Amino acid sequence: MKIYNTLTRKKEEFVPVTSGKVKIYLCGPTVYNYFHIGNARTFLFFDVVRKYFIYKGFDVTYVQNITDIDDNLINQSNKEKIPVPKIAEKYIKAFLDDTAAIGISPADHNPKATEYLAEMIGLIKDLEKKGFAYEVNGDVYFSIEADKTYGELSGKNIEDLQVGARVEENTQKKHPGDFTLWKKAKPGEPKWQSPWGEGRPGWHTECVVMSQKLLGKTFDIHGGAIDLIFPHHENEIAQSRGANNCLHANYWMHGGFLNITGEKMSKSLDNFFLTRDVLKKFDAETIRFFFLSKHYRSSIDYNEAILQESEQAVKNFYSALRKVGYQILRDEVPEYTEDQLKMKETFINAMDDDFNTAIAISVLFEAAKKARNTDDANYAHLLVELGSVLGFFTDLESKLKDNVDSISNDLIQLLIDYRNRFKKEKNWALADAIRDDLKKLGIQLKDTAAGTEWEMD
Ligand code: AMP
Ligand code: ZN
Repeated sequence: MKIYNTLTRKKEEFVPVTSGKVKIYLCGPTVYNYFHIGNARTFLFFDVVRKYFIYKGFDVTYVQNITDIDDNLINQSNKEKIPVPKIAEKYIKAFLDDTAAIGISPADHNPKATEYLAEMIGLIKDLEKKGFAYEVNGDVYFSIEADKTYGELSGKNIEDLQVGARVEENTQKKHPGDFTLWKKAKPGEPKWQSPWGEGRPGWHTECVVMSQKLLGKTFDIHGGAIDLIFPHHENEIAQSRGANNCLHANYWMHGGFLNITGEKMSKSLDNFFLTRDVLKKFDAETIRFFFLSKHYRSSIDYNEAILQESEQAVKNFYSALRKVGYQILRDEVPEYTEDQLKMKETFINAMDDDFNTAIAISVLFEAAKKARNTDDANYAHLLVELGSVLGFFTDLESKLKDNVDSISNDLIQLLIDYRNRFKKEKNWALADAIRDDLKKLGIQLKDTAAGTEWEMD
């Protein structure tokens, strides 16, 4: 398996720290708002990374943290006039509800920053002792000049950071690029006791501690979107090097943005759609299809016309599966033909090549088409097997049993086949009669490039 590693800027063969195991940490939400569909793209992609490792037989530990203390929460608390812990509680629930609604499996752990204060203070003390941190008036900073490898992830060098920094930031710090490990509390802010007085930890420290506590000092994969490369992940690496003299994670994976008219979708630009609102228009599998049709490292523009195409594609999957029916898909163990094994290999090769879901999706497409156009039910089995790896078909039973039992299914398919025969024979009157009569029963036929689909009103 090859993974593109931001740290080395190339695709590398994946070698886990412990054979047979994969430990993954994904930076989670700051819980002061509902998450938007851009965040969802990143969360959903890493859900697929995790599922693919499981499919490959790895024992996966998947952690996604929750940042429940930071400036944004404090601002939101003032805005909503609710105390910070209540703000956190409200949006943690929303986060868990929305991730479930969009079809993301629950993480093995969702550590909250506020539960690891003692360990965070311990790390900062350690950094101070080792000469990587210094205190000024109750704030503690990390000294980037003390870290000889600082900038290794983002490719930035210490001089660039000097030039880019704003003047007022320079006053307390030894170097303008030094970042906050511990922040002194202002009156009324949430605070914890520490050797430097009352305050709270910085965001970068939170993630180092939660990841190492649950996954070990060096773990396999650290993920997020590209906005986290700098400063967040760079600063995590620096703290880990300083405190433990080891590499924080071996593979650093970063997804591209979901854009909106060419610009990053973000809370601060106020150009976002909330995941829960998009889910009112498109279902979870449609959104999944829309994202996975592109490679995770490329950017995607939010586009409802393409989402509608994705919706149709997912419907095509289900119509292919309906033709076979739930019973057969559940009970029969497929014996794949050479063609099917080749398709499976194409899927695996694509996913092994830095998670090329775009190619993987095209295999699902082909399987659906062949399932519809041949009598070989194993194409439908293949569609389910590979689709499930990408997180589709989690509720197959109810989806396939929806509205119709399998006999009705077969009968509708039979009529479609007859209609196609009549069309071939240019017997338009009979072909149209079948379509119109089915319509009277509430069954709509749709002719697509991939064949005839049907759906119930
Ligand atoms: P935030 O709440 O902004 O810290 O973001 C949570 C996660 O979503 C992080 O992994 C970000 O990198 C990711 N993210 C934020 N905006 C986008 C976007 N427009 N497209 C894709 N991922 C994003
Ligand atoms: Zn993080």
